[in-house]
Formats: sequence, structure tokens, C-alpha cells
Amino acid sequence: MAAATTLENDIINILKIQNEQWATGNAQLYPMEHQDPKDAQTLEFQSLLSSDADPGMIFTHRNIANQVFPDDPNVMSVIAYALHDLGVEHIIVAGHSLCGGVAACIDKHLTQKERADCFEFEAASRWPPRAPLDQWLAPLRDFAESLDTPPTVQQLVEENVRLQVKKLIALPTVQDAWYNVDETLEKADKETKARLQGIHGWWFDVHTGRVRDLNISVHAQDILGAQS
Ligand SMILES: [Zn+2]
Repeated sequence: MAAATTLENDIINILKIQNEQWATGNAQLYPMEHQDPKDAQTLEFQSLLSSDADPGMIFTHRNIANQVFPDDPNVMSVIAYALHDLGVEHIIVAGHSLCGGVAACIDKHLTQKERADCFEFEAASRWPPRAPLDQWLAPLRDFAESLDTPPTVQQLVEENVRLQVKKLIALPTVQDAWYNVDETLEKADKETKARLQGIHGWWFDVHTGRVRDLNISVHAQDILGAQS
């Protein structure tokens, strides 16, 4: 991976420093290990960082198990708005410890009927109550089952972050965002005016409140350099 830009280092490092300061201060006042682990289930997020204002401004989208589906209008509209209207320069996919969505992909074995039911669109109003959740998690469950060794929750959380970062990179709306959208510019000019600066994978420890960089970042230089 190419070295990050000064601007990116500033923003990403400031976030990490702020997280450390927050985790340290917060741990003294509100030890997170005393919180109900069920609260952790609300912590799904992909953070879309808007850097046109101060570095602490974070535009956030959450869903169960951080899934990126090109046919999901919710996540796709959030990404498009963030990148092409707000001018967000960094995307962070942040998995977390104690992820119930990920754990469900390991722990729960569906019957053939449950698998069939969760894709029965025409009977949506008569879906079994959990069928939408099973459908939502089906790709990640299939991925978990495709691995040679059954993963732990921790391993699958990290693999899932890697997977979703790859899916983000492949999206046309993301690929367009590496460049300046002004099509009148020559390619060389576009390359110097990339807007999206980086896509990153982090892991969030709900006990300590600390983030850990999974070091899978892809930077604008990687994308633009490979094409020049
Ligand atoms: Zn989760």
C-alpha cells in the first residue's frame, strides 16, 4: 500500500487519538465491561467520514453485520450521498466485538425450509418472523460456511470487514469518487484531484471502547497509481 497522504494521516490519526482519549477517559467514568453485552448489538456501523468540516464530523450508516449489498437502496444511497454530495474523503468499515449478527452466521444452522422461506419474496407478508433476518445474513452465513475451518466470532468479524471493504471498492459509485467528477478535465488533472482518499477497515472493542486498525486500507494513490 502506498503511504497515506498528510491530510489522510491527519484525519485518520486524529480519530485514533480521539478514540484513545475517549476510551481512557470513558473507562474511568463508565467501565464498558459493566454494560450489558446486548447493548453491543446496536453498534453496527460503517462510518463515512466527512472531512469538509472538522475532523470529528462523522456521517454514519448502520446495519446488521455491516453488510454492503449493491441492490440495497439504503446503503447505496448513503454511500452515494456521502461521496458525491457531502464530499466524504474516507470510509471506515468498523466491525465490533460481540457482534450478534456475525455470531448468528456461525451459531445458527438453518433447516432447508428456513433457507427456502427466507427467499420467498412473493409471500413476504406471510414470511416467518425471522425470515428477513435470515435472508439479510444469508451471504455472510454462506461465506462462513465456505471457510475451511469454522471461524470464531472474532475471526468472522474481521473477515467480514475485509469482505465488505472489497465490496465497497468494487462499487461504481465508489470507483467514480476516486476521481474529480469534472469530465472536462484531462485524466492527469483528475488524478491530482481525487476526492475519496481512503477506505479503511477497523475493529471496535466494545469492552474497552478502543478501535484497532486492521491495516487493510486502500488509498487513492493505490487506485490512481495502478491506472497511470
Ligand atoms: Zn454487530
